[in-house]
Amino acid sequence: MIDLRSLSFRYRQDWVLQDISFRIEKGEFIGVIGPNGSGKSTLLKTLCRLLSPQKGEVLVNSTPLKDMKQGEIARKIAVVPQEAYSLFPFRVVEMVLMGRSPYLGHLMFEGSKDLEIAKKAMDWTEILPISERSVDELSGGERKRVFIARALAQEPEVILLDEPTANLDIHHQVDFIDLILSLNRERGLTIVMASHDLNIASEYCDRLILLRGGKIYKIGPPREVITRENIEEVYGCKVWVDENPISKMPRITLLKKGEHSIETLERD
Ligand code: ADP
Ligand code: MG
Repeated sequence: MIDLRSLSFRYRQDWVLQDISFRIEKGEFIGVIGPNGSGKSTLLKTLCRLLSPQKGEVLVNSTPLKDMKQGEIARKIAVVPQEAYSLFPFRVVEMVLMGRSPYLGHLMFEGSKDLEIAKKAMDWTEILPISERSVDELSGGERKRVFIARALAQEPEVILLDEPTANLDIHHQVDFIDLILSLNRERGLTIVMASHDLNIASEYCDRLILLRGGKIYKIGPPREVITRENIEEVYGCKVWVDENPISKMPRITLLKKGEHSIETLERD
């Protein structure tokens, strides 16, 4: 579905992404993890041509991304940005309808079909009851759902999410990520999610890409990527990795400085 070939990118002189190659299969749920500044957001931006790599290329269904028209990209790939703000107090329904713009003719008027699709997107994301409210007076969790609905109204094949659970309380984190998972499992959407939350990434993603300094340090299923060695090496802090007793997926616990519980536990 999406094929990255030896992609490198720099904003100024230093390379921020270096020689990134991997392939995203249709219907996969991929997590991109790594410390601050490791290149997660930059990588997502190259996947929808918000940024164009200086070396290498991105292919979408075998077509080079650089040869595609902007509207064509938007009909395939939707982005939910990290900072889901709006500077203008649009109503929720107006915001969601913006997702239809890649499909509108040159007059840019939405028709009844567009409104129908926007309504469906608001129904899936459970924001129909707030569809007439202004986006700037919603809670963080509600606003995130509006941006997901806008992405869904685009009827894309792929959704790119940058730190979707940051700033959400645990209830809204689970709600939100369960919604993403159902879009993936039930509607076959391909998901690429950058996340700081290693436990969420471990629980939900089919495969993880661990970035360090703009390079792929490790790529594979969570069990191969979320190991004590990998995480300590890349993040430079002590962690304890065991198994979530319910899901059996790797689970990370942070350790205080000087805490020697790993060694103690291992000895016992
Ligand atoms: P992450 O999302 O993993 O925290 P980013 O992709 O945002 O990392 O950033 C990777 C590197 O690129 C960082 O060193 C950051 O300072 C730099 N960077 C990000 N955006 C810009 C920009 N617009 N101009 C110049 N450098 C940038
Ligand atoms: Mg980022």
